Amino acid sequence: MNHDPDCIFCKIVEGKIPSKKAYEDPELLAFHDINPWAPVHVLIIPKEHLATHYDVRPEHDALLGRMLGLAPRLMRELGVVNGFRTLINTGPDGRQEVQHLHMHVMGGPRPWAKG
Ligand code: AMP
Ligand code: ZN
Repeated sequence: MNHDPDCIFCKIVEGKIPSKKAYEDPELLAFHDINPWAPVHVLIIPKEHLATHYDVRPEHDALLGRMLGLAPRLMRELGVVNGFRTLINTGPDGRQEVQHLHMHVMGGPRPWAKG
């Protein structure tokens, strides 16, 4: 599987940087955001290094579908039953800070820190 040795999320996938994991399978990893905007804020990432949403190809369609499909299951498991937000930031104008594709999934009782 493609990993970038300088990528912080690849290091999380490889266990070189600790994370609070919420879900893992051979293709996907979900972990709690270190700086949460909401009471529950997880990031769902592909284990493969894809820098941005621009980098997905048709062969990744199923993977992207699995990321979206996982979000509501994970939220229910984490006790979020009153709604949540999903967000993918892409590129400079999308304010993407970490260059490894990730989907924010945010929920829990309001108020939230942002949004
Ligand atoms: P984005 O602006 O979409 O690239 O967001 C990157 C997110 O990654 C931010 O919400 C950060 O708080 C989060 N983040 C950065 N480093 C870590 C880390 N080591 N563990 C968990 N979340 C992180
Ligand atoms: Zn990476």
